[in-house]
Amino acid sequence: MEQITPVYLDGSIVPEADARIAALTQGLLYGLGVFETFRARHGRVYRLDRHFARLQRGATALDIPVPIGIGELEGAAAALAERSRLDDARLRLTLAGGADADSVCIMTIRAADDYPESLYSRGASAVVASRRRNEQSPLARLKTLNYLDNLLARREARQAGAHEAVLLNTRGFVAEGSGSNLFVVYGDSLATPRPDDGALPGITREAVIDLAAGAGAIVREKRLTLDDLLSADELFLTNAVAGVLPLVLLAGAKIGPGTPGRVTERLRRLYQDASES
Ligand code: PMP
Repeated sequence: MEQITPVYLDGSIVPEADARIAALTQGLLYGLGVFETFRARHGRVYRLDRHFARLQRGATALDIPVPIGIGELEGAAAALAERSRLDDARLRLTLAGGADADSVCIMTIRAADDYPESLYSRGASAVVASRRRNEQSPLARLKTLNYLDNLLARREARQAGAHEAVLLNTRGFVAEGSGSNLFVVYGDSLATPRPDDGALPGITREAVIDLAAGAGAIVREKRLTLDDLLSADELFLTNAVAGVLPLVLLAGAKIGPGTPGRVTERLRRLYQDASES
């Protein structure tokens, strides 16, 4: 029997073919809107409250209403996972400015199969994106539907056979990955770029900072150069679908010995335990 992909649209779950939105939706016309991507294991989402808070902050900044509460969001994620029979799923919540002063709320689901286990054992690779992140734009700190810079950077990575692209800001400092935050490890100390330098305040970034602190390691928010990355002992990327992903090759150069490092592995395990329990 063919599986019908379910979509949450403004309070109802409908088959994908019936999930239609108005042609004058401002999210579509102008990129007016915000989104969240997260992973659901057995229908449950780690730190969903934090994702919802970031969505609310973005919606307030763009002046669009949030027609959904955290309870309904939780229910929609669980219902989509159940109907699609996906035990390990990637969900996307989109809140788009509507045709008037309203908004359209959509949640879609697919299998979380982008990050195979072999990628964690070998480590990922990245290029340095040719376009810069405008850290002076307040949009840099929101996860808006204006996502083209990130999309083009990721495409650049894929064309070079790499997994991710690292974005520098207009002053040449490191901002983040096209769809991830970046951490550097020197010995036992950790650092990550500041939101002021163009990093999205990632939910996984925050979780890793908390987990590291719990394990007695302080992560400093710091201004970083490309040289700082290239001379690090370890690098890793974070996002809500991948968790903690070792980055072992940057712009063709090996980071440390070119294999996933001890600190990264420890944090990866801590994050897995926290997010999968
Ligand atoms: N930066 C960008 C540009 C992203 O798209 C993402 C993914 N949402 C992240 C960082 C990581 O954020 P999170 O940990 O909330 O997934």
